[in-house]
Amino acid sequence: MEGTRLKEIKTDLLIIGAGPAGLGAALYAARSALEFKIVDKLMAGGQIITTEFIENYPGFKDNISGYDLMSTIIEHCKKFNISIEEYMELGAIELLIQYGTGGSGKFVCTGEEVKIISKAIIISTGTSPERLHVEGESEYIGKGISYCATCDGALYWDKEVMVIGGGNTAIQEALFLTKFAKKVYVAHRRSELRAVKILQDRAFDNKKIEFIWDSIVEKFSGSERLEEVTIKNVKSGKKALRKIDGVFEYVGIKPNSAIAAGLADLDTNKFIITDSKMQTRQPGLFAAGDVRNTPLRQVITAVADGAVAATYADKYISDMI
Ligand SMILES: Cc1cc2nc3c(=O)[nH]c(=O)nc-3n(C[C@H](O)[C@H](O)[C@H](O)COP(=O)(O)OP(=O)(O)OC[C@H]3O[C@@H](n4cnc5c(N)ncnc54)[C@H](O)[C@@H]3O)c2cc1C
Repeated sequence: MEGTRLKEIKTDLLIIGAGPAGLGAALYAARSALEFKIVDKLMAGGQIITTEFIENYPGFKDNISGYDLMSTIIEHCKKFNISIEEYMELGAIELLIQYGTGGSGKFVCTGEEVKIISKAIIISTGTSPERLHVEGESEYIGKGISYCATCDGALYWDKEVMVIGGGNTAIQEALFLTKFAKKVYVAHRRSELRAVKILQDRAFDNKKIEFIWDSIVEKFSGSERLEEVTIKNVKSGKKALRKIDGVFEYVGIKPNSAIAAGLADLDTNKFIITDSKMQTRQPGLFAAGDVRNTPLRQVITAVADGAVAATYADKYISDMI
């Protein structure tokens, strides 16, 4: 903050983001006796904490909610005295001192009240949901348009909702919404789903779900709240106005990679490019989990990335001395 003296914190390793990747990194860093800080702008656990059930994380054969899985991992971290600084959003990372020119600090990263100087950084900031960017969308976010079925699904008891998208998240959340809504339309721009077979089979068997194929949203409209969606069939060009109580968008994700701009290379979709050791172009700057250009974005891969990043951050810091 301008005019305010920021509290200066020095640490060997800074982990930004306490989702599965950040917590995986923290666990490995703690067991290597590394001196480190882990921060999150919201709360520990990451985006999976709002998911009702996870059935693909090994060791939990009877399904576990995202919240329970992450609480278990957080408890595990506490066993190693890891304390997570929550509600601390960090801004762009800057290079403070080139390695070899002396001094212990290398990177500086600034939050609202703090300046953190560290020898290495692991960026595990995940992703945010992509928007459709169509007319009326900004107006009705939070007033009928949502990105989180677990958070908002119960508001649509006995109502009609629409899920936009055809991937795993869209279908998983459409199935979840059938617990509350009397009808769940799934509008998808293609004529087949991208979701895994097991989810597709469940959705096709569910009487409450109706698919609207080859269709894109053109416009959201209503008054105080969302009331209608204009859908266009991409093959016929025909448009239809549909009354709807709520819309859940699952049309993709965008990486929270802006903090690495200028220091790390990004791919065309702005995911951070790393090697197999989670190292970015900039020595000492690592990235782990959904924010990097990984072929699979799941809890299991995020945790594993964190473990690899912490292992090589440790090696990097040891080699500096
Ligand atoms: C609806 C839904 C259902 C899913 N279902 C499954 C499933 O069944 N199984 C599965 O394996 N995966 C599932 N996933 C994917 C899974 O959630 C992600 O792969 C995983 O959470 C990635 O972990 P991460 O640590 O890389 O990122 P995230 O979980 O996104 O965590 C990133 C953290 O960084 C913090 N952060 C961001 N920017 C900053 C900043 N500037 N300063 C400080 N903190 C910051 C955020 O607050 C967040 O806590 C699902 C995802 C969604 C959205």
